[in-house]
Amino acid sequence: MSLSWTLECSGCGQTRGAEGLPSVCEACAQPYLVRYAAAPSPEIKRLLRERRGTMWRFREWLPLADGEEPVTLGEGGTPLLRVDRIAARYGFQELLVKEEGTNPTGSFKARGLAAAVTRAVRAGASRFVVPTAGNAGIALAAYAARAGASARVYAPANTPPTILAQIRSFGADLVLLDGHIGDCGTAARTYAADSGAIDVSTLREPYRIEGKKTLGLELAEQGNWTLPDAIVYPTGGGTGLIGMWKAFQELRAAGWLRGRGGGGDGAGALPRMYSVQSSGCAPVVKAFEERLDRCTPWPEPWTVASGLRVPGPFGDRLMLRALRESGGGAVAVSDEALTAAARELQTAEGIDAAPEGGAALAAAVELKRRGAMRPSDRVVLFNTGAGWLYRG
Ligand SMILES: *Cc1c(COP(=O)(O)O)cnc(C)c1O
Repeated sequence: MSLSWTLECSGCGQTRGAEGLPSVCEACAQPYLVRYAAAPSPEIKRLLRERRGTMWRFREWLPLADGEEPVTLGEGGTPLLRVDRIAARYGFQELLVKEEGTNPTGSFKARGLAAAVTRAVRAGASRFVVPTAGNAGIALAAYAARAGASARVYAPANTPPTILAQIRSFGADLVLLDGHIGDCGTAARTYAADSGAIDVSTLREPYRIEGKKTLGLELAEQGNWTLPDAIVYPTGGGTGLIGMWKAFQELRAAGWLRGRGGGGDGAGALPRMYSVQSSGCAPVVKAFEERLDRCTPWPEPWTVASGLRVPGPFGDRLMLRALRESGGGAVAVSDEALTAAARELQTAEGIDAAPEGGAALAAAVELKRRGAMRPSDRVVLFNTGAGWLYRG
């Protein structure tokens, strides 16, 4: 089957074909990004309406060969919910939540792992490994099972117990370490080298980003091909942020956007992207504030929002670039504030927010207080996972 895309190194720009099982750039060890031969025609918008509501309805935007079927559990197609009661409370005209907790496996990690596992099994993989702060482990376990493959997962021993139980329930071989996701990453790379298992760590293969790109494609479609003014995204490894930013640029280049971002009548600005992290682990916020283009590893990272406990993200350059190019920023909130905000989404709106989703709300309120949000802004928060995974 011929593949209609190539891989371009995000560091040195070197390109290569997409055949085989690519990891990082052979020359400079930075992540590869997928570049498609042709942009999908806006004609395809019509087809989208006739297709089932998973992320694969955007197949022309995704790394699939003609006629190829993905490994899928029905990921994507999640609701974009107005939260008017909370909006009124904090003086937003339009505040929306992209509710990613409704994905298979309970988080938006499903999108990336569906894409990564699809490509790897088509290239012959039957064994996988991933280091995780929690939800990527559940998603890999489930998609590996779906593909008839096996999975090894390295997770910190203090990951929420329900998340660990979910990883085991899908049959993965779970190894607990005293440490954080960075320590798990080292163990995963050793295991991959020894066993031949495919390492699907964040940005160490090019396809999780493409799956996460569908967050941005769906936002555009749900806004009738206009984009919000600002996005607040709880940031760990950064795949969602980088993926969405890639989606917006590709949509703009393909002429799919109307109004703001569409390039017509002097527009052309894409949404301002804001990262939120916990003050217990905020390497991206620190690097943004210090105007650096790389993160310094955060010592002794801790937060109840386990998805944000990534002390030294591998995709730091790409994230910081997206935050700056978009005119956005980065903000840290305390565990107390993010926990309270998650509860507010639950009790005031019925959305079962994960602590990470709570962080997005707490950050939006903080950004409003600092004057970084105009009252007229259409603001989208991401609830990246289901709250029940963090209970029990
Ligand atoms: C992984 C995860 C995050 C962080 O996502 P990145 O794309 O790695 O930055 C946020 N929230 C939840 C619930 C997660 O599982």
